[in-house]
Amino acid sequence: MHEIPMSEILGELRELSARRVLIQTPEGLKREAQELADFLEKNGIEVIISGDINYGACDPADREAKMLGCDALIHLGHSYMRLHLEVPTIFVPAFARIDVIPAIEKNLSEVRKLGQKIGLVTTVQHIHQLERVKSFLQEQGFTVLIGEGDGRISFRGQVLGCNFTTARVDADGILFIGAGYFHPIGVAISTRKPTLAINPYSGDAIWMNEEAERMIRKRWAQIAKAYDARKFGVVISTKKGQLRIAEARKIMKLLKEHDRKAMLIAMNYINYPALEGFDFDAYVVVACPRVPIDDYENWRKPVLTPPEVELLLGLREEYKFDEILGGKGEKAKAELKAYSIIIQS
Ligand code: SF4
Repeated sequence: MHEIPMSEILGELRELSARRVLIQTPEGLKREAQELADFLEKNGIEVIISGDINYGACDPADREAKMLGCDALIHLGHSYMRLHLEVPTIFVPAFARIDVIPAIEKNLSEVRKLGQKIGLVTTVQHIHQLERVKSFLQEQGFTVLIGEGDGRISFRGQVLGCNFTTARVDADGILFIGAGYFHPIGVAISTRKPTLAINPYSGDAIWMNEEAERMIRKRWAQIAKAYDARKFGVVISTKKGQLRIAEARKIMKLLKEHDRKAMLIAMNYINYPALEGFDFDAYVVVACPRVPIDDYENWRKPVLTPPEVELLLGLREEYKFDEILGGKGEKAKAELKAYSIIIQS
């Protein structure tokens, strides 16, 4: 499914004079991680594979690598995220092999409904094809904009489940390429523009604005459930790229100013069963936005995002998707670094 650029990784490790490394992998790349470990060991590098499942570049195992005496961390599956890392870290994004053009070609009549000026976004799996898609759409007469985004992301046009800054371009509508609903719903809510998602695997095209409205209605139901809550647990994450302590303090202050009690809770893996024994009426997750939005059905207490607390307290009127924003700068360098270990399709 994916090709790991083993020789390039070995070259990077040799440049770092690394003798022991930790490999961290998402669920879908476990076999590739094992093959890479085998290859590196044959080349004289001691390897430890992390058995913890990883969900994003926001959770690098650099602390664990340091604790284990490793000289470097190899983070498989996700692109570079600017964080203060304790050991040199090689990010190896996984790019899908599937050609996305046929699915776009099949749905050109739907794409035309977006308007003439299109914003183009995707997840890291298809990012290496974005320029090809742009040229293809330009040949069909569209003006195509690919947003720069902020410093949290590596590539122009890339969206994360917590960052849609590349979608905020001066376009008539946004075309998302990729599978799954979470990212394009986020794009639709954060841009308020017509958003079409084309799935390169199924070939389907789905308009996301109705899906987004449906999700917003569900979120309002969560907010309504929290109306009578007096005691709030404000949950922050100890994962490096999800830690939003200043924002959590701001939420605590707002809740207290509105006669609610609030207490900070720090967790690594945020899940309701671990919170079950606490006496809180509701929770606010100031970490990965996917936790309260994707997982709320598994919580027996209402669970909100920070912008939803503002809605609850009457400080905001329009629904806002929770995003984690990055700073500016250093992106060009990050892009180069990530491309140096690109997985070719
Ligand atoms: S915070 Fe959540 S959405 Fe953002 S990169 Fe991490 S896992 Fe993905």
